[in-house]
Amino acid sequence: MGLFDAFERKTCDICGEKVGLLGGTKLKDGRLCKSCANKLSPWLSGYRGYTLEDIKRHLAEREANDAEVRNFNITHVVGSGNVKMYIDMDNRKMIITSYSNWRSENPDILRFDQLVGSDMNIHETERELKQKGPDGKDVSYNPKRYEYSYSFNVVLNVNSEWYNTITFHMNRSTVNGFDTDEYDRCYLACEEMCEVIYAIIHGEREDIEEAIEYYRNVTSQPRRKYDMGYYYRNSAYSVRRGQDYYRQRDPRHNHYRF
Ligand SMILES: [Zn+2]
Repeated sequence: MGLFDAFERKTCDICGEKVGLLGGTKLKDGRLCKSCANKLSPWLSGYRGYTLEDIKRHLAEREANDAEVRNFNITHVVGSGNVKMYIDMDNRKMIITSYSNWRSENPDILRFDQLVGSDMNIHETERELKQKGPDGKDVSYNPKRYEYSYSFNVVLNVNSEWYNTITFHMNRSTVNGFDTDEYDRCYLACEEMCEVIYAIIHGEREDIEEAIEYYRNVTSQPRRKYDMGYYYRNSAYSVRRGQDYYRQRDPRHNHYRF
């Protein structure tokens, strides 16, 4: 008996179904089965910090969110990368998602007044390239040679009871090399998202639309590889953080003199 008791499957405190063999998703004072846990916001984390009552309230909000998502009215779509912002400008709300079938995925709707800030975060990984020496062992080139790979993220700060930081991965797969079209595309996609969010926080509707229009034009033109002039030309919209801000966060800074 004793041994089996330890493995006796417990039940979900929300729906009463049996939880997985590992005990399901644990809360401060309860547990959830997989199907209930799947209904939580994907941006929620640290489940053990929440009580069952918190989670019941959260799930009720998620259900209301789902109904709203299905009828969400889109006035603007922003995003040249795999992450898109679906904006309802009239009601000052938006959905940010990389799903194309998002209507059935219940992404959290964010109100404009919940947005606090956004930042671009590009992570560089350096790997030294080696050659075979006379004895067959790997030796450095002289001077040393490296290859670089990148991941692109936009970090959004929001005011919500359930989460304050959301990270969006802007590249689907690792970007190899900084002197590539793919780097440019991902960089611009990050800047676009950050700038439109900046305009939402600091501007009026016309300012937001101006920023959206500006980036729609910039991202629709085929981009050449690294183009210094791009960083120095003046943006044609009024409420902006500006490209200097992004340049400081651009790892290409370490490789080019600009
Ligand atoms: Zn359940």
